[in-house]
Amino acid sequence: MSAALSLDDWRGQAATLNYRNQCFIDGKFAPAASGRTFDCISPVDGKVLTQVASGDVEDVDRAVASGRKAFESGVWAKMAPRDRKKVMLAFADAIRAHGTELALLETLDMGKPIADSSSIDVPATAGCIQYYAEAIDKVYDEVAPTASNVVAMILREPLGVVGAVVPWNFPMIMAAWKLGPALATGNSVVLKPAEQSSLTALRLAELAVEAGLPEGVLNVVPGLGEEAGQAIGRHMDVDALTFTGSTEVGKFFLKYSGESNMKRVALECGGKTPHIVLPDAHDLDIAAKNAAFGIFFNQGEVCNAGSRLLVHETIKDAFLEKVMDWGRKMAPGNPLDPKTTMGAIVDEQQMERVLGYIEKGKEGGANLRMGGVRARSDSGGFYVEPTIFDNVANDMTIAREEIFGPVLATLTFKDEEEAMKIANDTIYGLAAAVWTSDVNKAMKAARALRAGSVWINCFDGGDITTPFGGFKQSGFGRDKSMHAMDKFTDLKTVWIELH
Ligand code: NAP
Ligand code: MG
Repeated sequence: MSAALSLDDWRGQAATLNYRNQCFIDGKFAPAASGRTFDCISPVDGKVLTQVASGDVEDVDRAVASGRKAFESGVWAKMAPRDRKKVMLAFADAIRAHGTELALLETLDMGKPIADSSSIDVPATAGCIQYYAEAIDKVYDEVAPTASNVVAMILREPLGVVGAVVPWNFPMIMAAWKLGPALATGNSVVLKPAEQSSLTALRLAELAVEAGLPEGVLNVVPGLGEEAGQAIGRHMDVDALTFTGSTEVGKFFLKYSGESNMKRVALECGGKTPHIVLPDAHDLDIAAKNAAFGIFFNQGEVCNAGSRLLVHETIKDAFLEKVMDWGRKMAPGNPLDPKTTMGAIVDEQQMERVLGYIEKGKEGGANLRMGGVRARSDSGGFYVEPTIFDNVANDMTIAREEIFGPVLATLTFKDEEEAMKIANDTIYGLAAAVWTSDVNKAMKAARALRAGSVWINCFDGGDITTPFGGFKQSGFGRDKSMHAMDKFTDLKTVWIELH
């Protein structure tokens, strides 16, 4: 697709972009009812890309009404599965066909390297939509075992209108994780992207309609969390809410649901992933590379980032040297340069937040080994050097709170028991990783770690076929895999007595 493009090519492409910046409701773009907009600022250079419509209660009302009308009409929900499949496959194809544009929008809007947005985000988004498209005509309902005078059917039915509120770190992928299973099961969706990253969501919705998705089935309301996000969360005619974002905001959605119509809520929230290295790991070089990528990939703006490195005390010093070598290779660069491996932090506020945590690390007594400062400030954009702290205790702020930036906290342990204790001593439970050559230690750790994903001898392993989500305050409900479809359907028992 775009692998061969140079920095100048990407700059040239950027100059030709046409930004979709209005609400997408009932298959059409329209300004917010209030006429308000907000600046869409690129963290690449701090410049304004465009003004995006700031949707609020009124726009959400229109979007939900459009979704409801489409749902009740049956134009999508009652379409033959093979036909729905065709539309979603065409949507996946359109994402690939517009991959260069979508990758560029993502990079300009939220700062990730173009190499990643074109080789990871675009293919993963298309792949996710394709996976759920292919599933549509493979899922059967059930007939329960009963006495022979009864036929008991267990039918799976779509819920109606699904609200989806997503964050800015993987804007397209997070949207696809919600849209894929929600649309495949026949629902209508009202999607709210994060205000920092509205552009790809709006373009995706337009591509979906061009691919044949009936108008009103997918609506996008850009806007502020407290306005558009809250309006979706509290809407009396939204049947389910699927969210990815911080634990703090996740809890708001539980409250919104309880104070409105008891809509089903599924939450993918924060994390503080322990990345555990035992001395018997088969290859400490590979483990060190993974430790660096585990925290510096996507500027550390990853919910499952390996932000707590737990290394056995006997190998810590040598291992940390290797991690720092990798860290130095990942210094931030221009996100539009295909050679860049670490890009910009999403906005100035998040950059300041990350730098604030670095100060807290220093004040708390941790030992700053590398980074710790803003980078590339001449660009006008928002960059932070890969940062590594040593001598961290698990009760320090930098070990407890989600920083969502390129900041690694290194801790040590004496034995596996202590490692498990530290690893589980957190409010979060999204993921954990362990490096060991001993299958017994690996399997015992996998059972002991309280996390939705446990990676053994790798980091961030997975596929669209495997569920993803959290334990504890990392949330509940699962994205990806066939299990994700459960969130968007309900079971209906039909009990028929034969006479
Ligand atoms: P965030 O502040 O929680 O925002 C997430 C979404 O919620 C955004 O669309 C946001 O809109 C909206 N929102 C904010 N305040 C709201 C409110 N009062 N009511 C309703 N909606 C509201 O998170 P973020 O800053 O975008 O992303 C970073 C966080 O996401 C991190 O904590 C990270 O761990 C988490 N995350 C989790 C996963 C996972 O799968 N578990 C994946 C990625 C990210 P605005 O931005 O427009 O205000
Ligand atoms: Mg936000």
